[in-house]
Amino acid sequence: MSVDGFSQDGGCRCNRVRFSITQKPVITMACHCTGCQKMTSSAFSLSALVPSSGFTVTLGDPVIGGLHGVDRHYCCPHCMSWLFTRPNDVEEFINVRAVMLDDANDYVPYMETWTSEKLPWASTPAVHSFAQLPAREAFPGLLQAYAERDGA
Ligand SMILES: [Zn+2]
Ligand SMILES: [Zn+2]
Repeated sequence: MSVDGFSQDGGCRCNRVRFSITQKPVITMACHCTGCQKMTSSAFSLSALVPSSGFTVTLGDPVIGGLHGVDRHYCCPHCMSWLFTRPNDVEEFINVRAVMLDDANDYVPYMETWTSEKLPWASTPAVHSFAQLPAREAFPGLLQAYAERDGA
């Protein structure tokens, strides 16, 4: 349990891997890239960017999946659900697949990326859309806007 009392648990399809987050996400996202389409077998991925210090695997031993490239995608070794990603060169945050949280209702995607690759019919309620990824310099403003959004 963190100092402000925020704590949420999540897990894979078979619950052999469980995790908890004890810090609020700094932003929520949908990604329409074709890689996320393949990884999710769906139209887009949903994620919550959580400080690494607020993320703990509490059960099981997730393994690397996806492309096994510089971004490390972690999956359950049994049911193969995609659980979280440790992005290359960003040690301070973990990209948790938001729908793996036991209660994902509040994780409305605030920004969406790679709309240049999205399926023509796919849409999300994201407030900010990017054809690819936002510039690195845009992140502080995006995180601040997310923290100050209605309903925060
Ligand atoms: Zn599993
Ligand atoms: Zn993607």
